Amino acid sequence: MMNSYALVSDLKKRLPSYCVQEDVPLSRLSTWKIGGTADVLVSPETIDDVSSVKRYAFEHGVPIVVIGGGSNILFDDAGFRGVVLRIGQGLSDFTISERGFVHAGAGVWTPSFVYRVARAGFSGCTHAIGIPGTLGGLVVMNGGTSRKGIGDHLVEVTVVRDNGEIVRLTQAECAFEYRSSALQKADGVVVAASFQYEKADKAELRQEMLKTLRGRNRKFPRKQPNCGSVFLSNPKLYQMIGPPGKVIEEAGLKGEHCGAAQISRMHANFIINTGGATSADTLRLIAQVRAAVFSNTGHLLECEVRHLLPSGRMQPAHKSAEQFFPYA
Ligand SMILES: Cc1cc2nc3c(=O)[nH]c(=O)nc-3n(C[C@H](O)[C@H](O)[C@H](O)COP(=O)(O)OP(=O)(O)OC[C@H]3O[C@@H](n4cnc5c(N)ncnc54)[C@H](O)[C@@H]3O)c2cc1C
Repeated sequence: MMNSYALVSDLKKRLPSYCVQEDVPLSRLSTWKIGGTADVLVSPETIDDVSSVKRYAFEHGVPIVVIGGGSNILFDDAGFRGVVLRIGQGLSDFTISERGFVHAGAGVWTPSFVYRVARAGFSGCTHAIGIPGTLGGLVVMNGGTSRKGIGDHLVEVTVVRDNGEIVRLTQAECAFEYRSSALQKADGVVVAASFQYEKADKAELRQEMLKTLRGRNRKFPRKQPNCGSVFLSNPKLYQMIGPPGKVIEEAGLKGEHCGAAQISRMHANFIINTGGATSADTLRLIAQVRAAVFSNTGHLLECEVRHLLPSGRMQPAHKSAEQFFPYA
């Protein structure tokens, strides 16, 4: 890869210079507060910026990874030698029609998106209130609850391909499933999405959101850095025991720790950073949870959380745990 001085200088010729930062600690970009340094962070202001950076990286063989709020990513202690493209405030336009057609930039903060849709009197996304990430990350992860995902009401998504081309994909092309979408495998940056929501009573929507927020505050650890639910629900285990939190609790793992990464005593599907946790601590703990649950149930849990390898490959964290800690 070219040296980072040349890279930064080239990127600054293509974008406003304040959009390009060097040697950025990834721990600052993740809700887990874990990770080494990235060579370059680009915070684009327009879809054309995204297209220009993607095309540049493609043509020069520069590793590039896209993030939103970093609320579902484990960054590596070794950092990342390439460009982190953070979709945020610059791409946060929002419009809603009288008939509930919404078009929004991928950088809109999810709770703000949900609140604005509900305030206009439309239902269909209140389940996502309180999810601390961007709309783009939510769409890619098909985030929501175990029964509902943001993809349910999606009409179309706008994506910038590796070569800088801008394309639109329909809901069917996104192939949404529980915490999964074709967008996770395809090359491309989600830059905008549109949805169709249904008219509903504003007071009822408000009550629904308050109820959801109260439930989240009661169940989830809020004071220590975390990345939300680490493991995905497994349908067979759900029938046998229940959701992953209950499965992990029954394996006797609440409070278990590796270094400063600890299984939350409040909710066993959360791993909290008690101060200075590393990605190695977290991956080892993930490997230990999988081994203990396997010996208890005969099933292997898989991760919702994704791990960014120093090479730029983004994969579900259990794959890295398997790779680096096979004998946990
Ligand atoms: C306290 C807490 C509670 C949570 N509760 C929930 C919950 O109830 N339900 C739920 O579903 N999730 C939950 N999460 C997980 C997380 O918030 C969601 O998955 C969120 O939608 C991720 O959005 P993000 O912008 O932070 O994405 P990131 O974490 O930045 O990225 C996640 C993945 O999406 C990719 N990505 C991000 N943005 C884009 C883009 N614009 N284009 C292409 N790829 C992109 C990244 O490369 C990465 O693979 C919770 C997390 C926390 C910390």
